Amino acid sequence: MNKSSNIGIIGAGIQGISNALFLQKKGFNVTIFDRDEPGSHAASYGNAGHFSPYASLSLNRTDVLADVPAMLLSSTGPLALKWNYVPKMIPWFMKFIFNTTKNKMMHTAKNMHQILDLALPAYDELFDEIDLEGLVENKGILYIWNEKDLKSRELEIKVRDELGVQQQLVNKKEIHDLEPNIKPFYHGGVYYPYARHARNPKKILLKFFELFLKKGGKFEKQDVKQIEFNDEFPTIQTDSQKFDFDKIIIACGAFSKKLTDKLGERIPLDTERGYHIHFKNCDHLLSRPVIFSNRGFGITPMEQGLRVVGTVEFGGLDNPLSKSRIKNLINNAKYMLDDLPEHEDEWLGFRPTLPDFLPVMGPSKNHKNVFYCFGHHHLGWTLGPISGKIVSGMIAKENTNLNLDPYSSLRFS
Ligand SMILES: Cc1cc2nc3c(=O)[nH]c(=O)nc-3n(C[C@H](O)[C@H](O)[C@H](O)COP(=O)(O)OP(=O)(O)OC[C@H]3O[C@@H](n4cnc5c(N)ncnc54)[C@H](O)[C@@H]3O)c2cc1C
Repeated sequence: MNKSSNIGIIGAGIQGISNALFLQKKGFNVTIFDRDEPGSHAASYGNAGHFSPYASLSLNRTDVLADVPAMLLSSTGPLALKWNYVPKMIPWFMKFIFNTTKNKMMHTAKNMHQILDLALPAYDELFDEIDLEGLVENKGILYIWNEKDLKSRELEIKVRDELGVQQQLVNKKEIHDLEPNIKPFYHGGVYYPYARHARNPKKILLKFFELFLKKGGKFEKQDVKQIEFNDEFPTIQTDSQKFDFDKIIIACGAFSKKLTDKLGERIPLDTERGYHIHFKNCDHLLSRPVIFSNRGFGITPMEQGLRVVGTVEFGGLDNPLSKSRIKNLINNAKYMLDDLPEHEDEWLGFRPTLPDFLPVMGPSKNHKNVFYCFGHHHLGWTLGPISGKIVSGMIAKENTNLNLDPYSSLRFS
């Protein structure tokens, strides 16, 4: 296609902005739409900041279902429900259960591994163009657990071994040497030395956004209501204006379904709600992100202080923040570290998740000039640039040498 074509992108999260930057590299004119300023509240602002190229095994795994009742009953556990939303989510849960067989689990793991393996090099292509100013640390990521959790960890380690993911099992002494301030409740762990973390995801996002503007990109702070078509070409309609494009990308994270439903395609996207709080001026207590696997939460040292992140809460996009989940994060953080002050900044965010835990990347079923890039669940921060590289390659009709069929929305037709 003509490289001076105009592309509209809906969503200025890490997916939308990464798509824009890779399209600009290929010579396209790009306009991004977002109802908010980039990096203000979205998942791409509040995440744990892990760049986790190892995390190929997702939550659709053979052992998770058996653990769900105990996780729901435990106040220290990672899982929660908003009961008013459960009836709406039943179709999603049914599809999720269907995706927890060994074959489906491995299908997801292999196809996540395919893109995760390329995630850091794709980031580096974008990092080469900005001044990172110490916003990314290369100190690895550490998972710790106590004995109760060993069974589940064995599956994870085995699958990652099968896929060729580098991992380093660490004993109590090695964990203490890496992170001496953690209370010694743990029995073992695994360390991913090549993983990285962001000291401030919002600042990184804004640096990418400034680069996008510097390269001639346009930004419209508008809520997109509708997509219409003039022949086969899409028109983005906001509250007050219409914009014509050659092609558009929907990259609205967990909110993408509102637009894909209007395009007549039933994609079963929902959200796993997650939370963060900060303990200001405490980031010196940890050198790298540490995840306490038994309780499904983690702490990342950031510019904002220690960011404590966790919870998978099924409750849709409209329910308010749950105070009990904030309490859960505070208690878990205090279980792990001594002398924490009062917490600040209670944040609720929305992971965009499909029931097979694979993202949707590629053209829409009904409209060849509409592309999708959403549904990256727990790994959307890690996968922003590689997804942008892949989808921009599809738009430019380049050969990516990857098998992209597993990410197509057609799998739900
Ligand atoms: C608690 C938590 C911790 C996480 N930790 C990690 C981690 O450590 N590592 C990792 O890799 N991933 C992590 N994730 C996942 C990751 O943050 C997300 O997958 C990723 O940020 C999704 O990016 P996105 O661009 O698709 O969506 P978003 O960041 O949600 O951006 C979507 C944008 O679309 C805009 N939008 C939506 N609808 C419209 C509309 N109609 N019109 C205009 N604009 C619209 C929104 O305003 C928003 O700015 C975490 C997520 C959560 C919630």
